[in-house]
Amino acid sequence: MTQSTPLIIGAGPVGLAAAAFLSRHDIVPRIVDKRPEPSLLSKALAVNPRTLEILETIGLTDKLLALGKVVHGATIHRGDRIVAEVDFKQLEHRFPFLLALSQATTERILREDLAERGIEIERQIELVDSPQLTEGKAELVHAETYERQLATAPWILAADGAHSICRKSVHVPFPGDTYDRAWVLDDIALATDLDPARAHIKFVEDGFLFLLPIVTGDEAPGEPTVWRVLGNFPEPLNYLNEANPIGTSRWNSSFHISHRLVEKMNVGQVYFAGDAAHLHSPVGARGMNLGIEDAWVFAELARRDQLGSYHKMRWPVDNAIIQRIRTFTGFAKGETFLKRMMRNHVAPHLLRLNSVRQTMLHTVSGLDHPLPTWDK
Ligand SMILES: Cc1cc2nc3c(=O)[nH]c(=O)nc-3n(C[C@H](O)[C@H](O)[C@H](O)COP(=O)(O)OP(=O)(O)OC[C@H]3O[C@@H](n4cnc5c(N)ncnc54)[C@H](O)[C@@H]3O)c2cc1C
Repeated sequence: MTQSTPLIIGAGPVGLAAAAFLSRHDIVPRIVDKRPEPSLLSKALAVNPRTLEILETIGLTDKLLALGKVVHGATIHRGDRIVAEVDFKQLEHRFPFLLALSQATTERILREDLAERGIEIERQIELVDSPQLTEGKAELVHAETYERQLATAPWILAADGAHSICRKSVHVPFPGDTYDRAWVLDDIALATDLDPARAHIKFVEDGFLFLLPIVTGDEAPGEPTVWRVLGNFPEPLNYLNEANPIGTSRWNSSFHISHRLVEKMNVGQVYFAGDAAHLHSPVGARGMNLGIEDAWVFAELARRDQLGSYHKMRWPVDNAIIQRIRTFTGFAKGETFLKRMMRNHVAPHLLRLNSVRQTMLHTVSGLDHPLPTWDK
């Protein structure tokens, strides 16, 4: 590797996508990750139309479509009643649906693409606190041998996730807020009549429940569908009256929701993308999808030698989306009596308004802003 080799920290979906986009422009980055193995967690469950559009430019969308399952819309329930429905077919887009596909499978497809292109992910290489990171000097340590190296790169893409060491090394502020109450998820097989081709949102007394099938692409025929059950309160499985769990959870996790965005999308030679740059609630299914779009914009600018425009181009887009998702989440979670009343009684009426439906559909699909247009 030479001094001119750019460096990507993190081989999650955003780092992998960035390497894939850059390699199409003959920019072959070095990509390192501290983990010995890829993560097999389902995490982000859906690929949105914007991501399908972007990944189509590098020939990966057909591979995702072959493995995922189409989600046609969302159904909102209260008690035993359906109070509203929204359908992605109202979107004027080539891919008028969400594609249910586990993040682990999306990452595998990206990794396979890099392998086909001869890009190796260097594993067990951890970026540690690096005082000269802004100048492109990264201190890397091997997890087993503890061998240290000072890598020098023309730029560094910080795709090292929510707890980004890159962010800490360059002391960039990461303002925002974190909810007190933990959200809880269970991935579990369910016996249910709920339509697996739709997302289901249930307004309940303590908040809301979200249900969507998890698709890995290697399901055996006849196997019961595994669902993500997510609630903004403890023990969401206790709130399922229309579904019975089969066995125990495949994955259970409890986490705190933040809405945050870095104050600058780059500091010196360090550029932020994905969770290293922004965090928000899973309402809207944007986390991984928004990060992949960051990676695409970054690669297009790198190709044109215009990285100086990255902050100006990307921060306002990410900021608008995070603020909108914060508003949606505040409305959906219904944590006080008053907010619950508003949500339960006003939301179904609001969702009958075309403008409200369009805002919701465009947010979830990732089509709430245009992609930049580039001169060839
Ligand atoms: C419990 C849970 C549920 C979620 N559910 C959803 C959902 O339903 N929908 C949705 O859209 N999103 C969801 N997300 C969020 C989604 O998973 C993230 O937005 C997405 O993973 C961000 O990708 P990333 O590549 O930016 O970061 P990550 O996926 O976090 O990848 C970062 C990579 O960097 C590596 N790394 C970190 N630090 C270092 C270092 N110092 N040196 C080297 N390597 C490093 C890590 O090992 C990791 O591989 C969920 C996340 C969690 C945790």
